[in-house]
Amino acid sequence: MAESLGAVPTILRKRSLDQAIGMGNITEGFSGAVGRTPLIRLRTLSALTGCEILGKAEFMNPGGSVKDRAALGILQEAEASGQLRPGGTVVEGTAGNTGIGLTHLCNALGYRALIVIPETQSAEKIGLLLSLGAEVRTVPAVPYSNPDNYVKLSGRLAQEIPGALWANQFDNLANRRAHYASTGPEIWEQCEGRVDAWVAATGTGGTYAGVALFLKERDPAIRCVLADPHGSALYHWATSGDLRSEGQSITEGIGNSRITANLRGAPVDDAVRIDDAEALRTIHALLWEEGLFMGGSVGINVAAAVETARRLGPGHRIVTVLCDSGDRYRSRLYDADWLRSKGLSQPQRTVRDSV
Ligand code: PMP
Repeated sequence: MAESLGAVPTILRKRSLDQAIGMGNITEGFSGAVGRTPLIRLRTLSALTGCEILGKAEFMNPGGSVKDRAALGILQEAEASGQLRPGGTVVEGTAGNTGIGLTHLCNALGYRALIVIPETQSAEKIGLLLSLGAEVRTVPAVPYSNPDNYVKLSGRLAQEIPGALWANQFDNLANRRAHYASTGPEIWEQCEGRVDAWVAATGTGGTYAGVALFLKERDPAIRCVLADPHGSALYHWATSGDLRSEGQSITEGIGNSRITANLRGAPVDDAVRIDDAEALRTIHALLWEEGLFMGGSVGINVAAAVETARRLGPGHRIVTVLCDSGDRYRSRLYDADWLRSKGLSQPQRTVRDSV
């Protein structure tokens, strides 16, 4: 009875609940559930910087990461061009999330998934791929210049399997087209056309470039800022043109030693490099202060968004990506012993006295 629900907060009243869960707007299977993620205002960091820091909640995609969009875009284009036929095999080299998105989609659409992943990636991602039913090859992590690099190996495996599709997320432009067609327009609509900066780290470059290309077309004044971890060459490339790197990072899925086809030609107005200690502090602060349990690349993105806020000054609206959940890295980023083995200490929770 409605009367007995008098104390229910407005947000839970039926009409807003219907809107929140999209009643009357049924989606078609797993594919239909990809995208249309919330854009979350990070309240504490917004208050601290005097800017509005917004995170696109890509961890809320049905496969749990930003890579569901690229995986869907790649498969849709391959189906449309006839490269992928019923019962075919999809082969990919991945740090995990693209493989996870692809495997969900392969199950839903009737394909087999063969995933090549460096053995340095988290046990959670590798275990999840196996649970989902992918055929998984874990391989030593070697540089891209080595023919046994996981990306190159996946390309060779795809050639050996008749009728297989190599998803080739790094250089297949279907990846950034998926973000140009969905993530970018969603951000633009959610912000009602007011965005001052777009900040993101890149792995393949699909997310950064697809959104940057879309937003720049809408408003050329939007600053596109590339975030980068140590151990990646992109910060130096963006700031001085040299592809060189120093140090290393415990983050997964981001950074690169080369300019992929997906990153090529994307606008880059500024670049920010974030170290692991700062990324760790950031994801722990997101957990304690915002209730958001996030992966390591989110630490790089959000810390870079905060640095961008500092550079731009108060009053700006800065959008970044919340790529995946901390659940994929519990045994690493949230484990004091593992962090210690990497020379890092787990941030200690402190009582906040202001903000
Ligand atoms: N964060 C995580 C956790 C990822 O797995 C990836 C993809 N490798 C990215 C960020 C970067 O996305 P993109 O490939 O679109 O550059």
